[in-house]
Amino acid sequence: MIFNDENLESLLLNKDLKAMIKFDNETGIIWLGQQRMLLLHTSAFGVLRSELINSFSNKYAKSLLMKMGYEAGHADATLSKSIRSGESAMDLFMSGPQLHSLEGMVSVKPVEINLDSTSFYGEFIWENSFEASEHVRLYGIAKESVCWQLLGYADGFTSKLFGQPIHYKEVECVGRGDKHCRIIGKPLASWNQNEQKEMDYSLQSLASKLKHLEEEVSDLRIEKQTSVSSQNIIADSNSIREIINLLNKAADTNVTVLMLGETGVGKEVFSQYLHKIGARKNNKFIAVNCASIPKDLVESELFGVDKGAFTGADKARKGRFERANGGTLFLDELAELNVESQAKLLRVIQTGELERVGGTEVISVDVRIIAATNSNLLEAVKSGDFRADLYYRLNVFPISIPPLRERLADIPGLVKKFIQKFNEKHGKSVTSITDNTLHRFNLYSWPGNIRELENIIERGVILTDKNAKIESTLICIGMPNLSSQSQNINTQGLIENNDEDKQEFFDQPSYKNMCLQAISSGLSLNDLEDDLLKLALEQSGGNIEKTARLLQITGPQCRYRMKKLNK
Ligand SMILES: [Zn+2]
Repeated sequence: MIFNDENLESLLLNKDLKAMIKFDNETGIIWLGQQRMLLLHTSAFGVLRSELINSFSNKYAKSLLMKMGYEAGHADATLSKSIRSGESAMDLFMSGPQLHSLEGMVSVKPVEINLDSTSFYGEFIWENSFEASEHVRLYGIAKESVCWQLLGYADGFTSKLFGQPIHYKEVECVGRGDKHCRIIGKPLASWNQNEQKEMDYSLQSLASKLKHLEEEVSDLRIEKQTSVSSQNIIADSNSIREIINLLNKAADTNVTVLMLGETGVGKEVFSQYLHKIGARKNNKFIAVNCASIPKDLVESELFGVDKGAFTGADKARKGRFERANGGTLFLDELAELNVESQAKLLRVIQTGELERVGGTEVISVDVRIIAATNSNLLEAVKSGDFRADLYYRLNVFPISIPPLRERLADIPGLVKKFIQKFNEKHGKSVTSITDNTLHRFNLYSWPGNIRELENIIERGVILTDKNAKIESTLICIGMPNLSSQSQNINTQGLIENNDEDKQEFFDQPSYKNMCLQAISSGLSLNDLEDDLLKLALEQSGGNIEKTARLLQITGPQCRYRMKKLNK
């Protein structure tokens, strides 16, 4: 049937459908027959639509919106069948276009319709598509047709009505600059293969797709870091050289290693190094931060999930243990693991076997464990927060990584490495840091350790001009400044520092923390004095006059204290 103005009018009568719409003030529900409906702002829909496009892709947004439209078309076909069961096939079919218009989506004008179910053909002109106008409002004219949700509706309605898949294609669209939108519908089998694929409504759930991507990214990130960092450990200080020796000894065994040390000292970097020099280097290094996983997901993250274990587990998923099979599993912030998960972890470490959450099959895994923490595990054992048996199982080969302030000799090497890294990242050509910057770095307590140094250097690289050195004034804000420029020798030969700098130093929370830590550690004032003297001697290379200047005492005072120290 081909339509013209005369035969069209009678086919657009929608009184019966309009009568199905009820606004129930009391319950706040809008009804269309038995279906609950929404009056939704097109601009709100536009925001959702553009979020989908920007976060994923046109392709993904299209398939999701088509699915949404398909669902609506399907529901409306069911309604039409109940209302117009006694009427002609054409009247029944036309309820679809009429409902589409009534719902405010688009105005539909049929051009040609053949209702024979085997050779179905439907051609329609769409005017005032809300989707095209939202797309143009947010993105301007597109290259492709954009009325995705509307198209899904047409698919859903017609397929449900005929009981067989019927697919529409939008051959003209206002969204791509045409005068109006035009769609053509035919049985699915008469479209070519690519066009048939468009009607695949078995969309992978957004959540599982995201989860999968997240895992891939995290593995890639770690692999990338591993390849870089294993050659890049700075070991100019004795303490780090000793640690490298220890790691070399552990590398060829399967011994469980426990990395201890303050936050930011590089526990993960040393763990990656251990992995890279050992027999497992060609397998994966998987890192888990136990503190960042929500408590109720810890077990599924570590041990995996079997299909149907809980709502949303639409397929089986490997945990970190299985993904690390043959390689190394790095458990960071281990002390944050809850007691129930500790028990399961202990079992896996002891037996090398695990069961996925919701599963019954026993799976064998061969994984080297490196655990890390910045807390005092022994204290946690005493307070009952950490299982003693797990502690002893993990504490076979403990490695304590010293804080940066105790390995000052590594600072120049680390600075060089980070400048290189951030020059590359930001397209800069910073040469190094000034002597004054290095001097102030050496006086600073580095509560955030290497991570803090890395962040400060990144800021410095960004702020510094081409081929220049990073000035202390740019990045040493809040750091102690006892530089020679600000020192004056007073009449007694003692050094006076710039009072403002000193005040700035004393006002720092890290300084106060340092003092509080010293008090609570049980150190005596004499111990502290001795340690200060030792550090100053180290800094000045054993030069007594220099040491005295650093500590703002006289030479004889310094010698006297050194004698005391040697007793
Ligand atoms: Zn369109």
